[in-house]
Amino acid sequence: MAKADRRVSVTDLKTCKRCGVGSLSWETSRRNGKPYLCIVRRTREGLYAMPYQPHKCHPDDVARMDAARAQDEANGIHFEF
Ligand SMILES: [Zn+2]
Repeated sequence: MAKADRRVSVTDLKTCKRCGVGSLSWETSRRNGKPYLCIVRRTREGLYAMPYQPHKCHPDDVARMDAARAQDEANGIHFEF
């Protein structure tokens, strides 16, 4: 377990609004201070956010993401990853 790993509670788990992947966590980039979704690992000790493993939507989901983004933007919602 790397030092940077951060334990997360179940209530901190997020789902990607673009592709629907769950078990993610919001982390803040140390480089630019921007929040991003990263992968959460399940271990015997609990759930740990992996700051160096940001979530990247699967290429197969691009069409779905584009449709979801168009719908979100029509509703005034903008996501940045
Ligand atoms: Zn995603």
